[in-house]
Amino acid sequence: MDHRTATPVVGMVGGGQLARMTHQAAIGLGQSLKILASSPDESAALVAPNVEIGSHTDLAALRAFAQGCDAVTFDHEHVPNEHLRALAAEGVAVHPGPEALLHAQDKLVMRRRLGELGLPVPPFAEITRVEDVLSFGAEHGWPCVLKTARGGYDGKGVWVLNTPEGARRTTGELLEAGAPLLAEQRVPLRRELAVLVARSPFGQGGAWPVVETVQSEGVCVQVLAPAPNLSEPLRERAQNIGLRIAEELGVVGVLAVELFETPDGLVINELAMRPHNSGHFSIDGARTSQFEQHVRAVLDYPLGSTELTAPAVVMGNVLAAATEPRMSVDERLHHLFARYPHAKVHLYGKSSRPGRKIGHVNMLGERMDEVREQARLAAHWLAHAEWPDGYSVH
Ligand code: ADP
Repeated sequence: MDHRTATPVVGMVGGGQLARMTHQAAIGLGQSLKILASSPDESAALVAPNVEIGSHTDLAALRAFAQGCDAVTFDHEHVPNEHLRALAAEGVAVHPGPEALLHAQDKLVMRRRLGELGLPVPPFAEITRVEDVLSFGAEHGWPCVLKTARGGYDGKGVWVLNTPEGARRTTGELLEAGAPLLAEQRVPLRRELAVLVARSPFGQGGAWPVVETVQSEGVCVQVLAPAPNLSEPLRERAQNIGLRIAEELGVVGVLAVELFETPDGLVINELAMRPHNSGHFSIDGARTSQFEQHVRAVLDYPLGSTELTAPAVVMGNVLAAATEPRMSVDERLHHLFARYPHAKVHLYGKSSRPGRKIGHVNMLGERMDEVREQARLAAHWLAHAEWPDGYSVH
């Protein structure tokens, strides 16, 4: 409890942009997030007053951080599960709890559990020897997909294996390096979708409209809400999958389920148990943002309405350019706002390594194709200080 404000204290482990935006939402609830960041220049540490600097892999630092927190939650899934179990055993309200979170930390555990629940996952197998991948490919066909079970993000940790020869080489190198691996059938996907839900300890659940996540080279570039032309049965199926996983695994907080749409229906790709890039649209595009909902859920408040605030909402990720743009961020904003007064910009205060997510833009409107184009142009402009090829400003 914060005695100055008589509001509970939520501690978030991890000081990235998700913590930064959760802090912003917590302020609206009369609170201030406490953050465990690994350095003072992390995105959330730049803006929040109550920051402890420490490592999320250090149990002593986690214990000290948890003191005085009414609930501890996360902006990433990299806290060792045994540390989470230790904290929970000592009475810390860890949300989501270690049993649930394990399914977002380990793809093999997740695939096995969801398969047992009868939920749609691609055929998969644990790979501990090169022969395992060769027999998997022989059974399910080439190409197939090899993944590290732990620690991957933004497509790092995913390899497409086209031939047995390539599979032998790649798998051999990864096994040598000690990576825990699984192989999956390459899913014939039409597009990628995501469903975000939230669940409170009381057991209340709520789903946002299903979104389409548009990917380029393994990185999400846009999120379209609602997913265009999604049939009613698939929409319902996706939301039910999200709510069922949250319930069965006992998730507390936001759960993002990444999905593949295939000619035969939906297939689950992966889970995140925290606010997620596919939910950034909700800051401006839904009655309750994923960040507010996450705080409400971990404190067991009743959840907020998830309905959209416009018929078409598009989130465009701002991915840092390969070379330093010719204008400062400040100048880029001047021009962007002059052109698009309705653009909602969210910058993370991060340095610009090429390809890094340094912010996003939300655009709202009536027609998806128009809003989508505006989000594309705005995100490109913010990253590059120029309009995309083939586009001229009149
Ligand atoms: P990460 O954890 O690094 O985000 P994902 O498991 O989400 O990795 O995979 C990254 C991308 O690779 C996905 O968004 C999708 O485009 C592609 N991908 C992953 N698994 C498969 C699969 N089984 N079949 C086809 N494409 C896949």
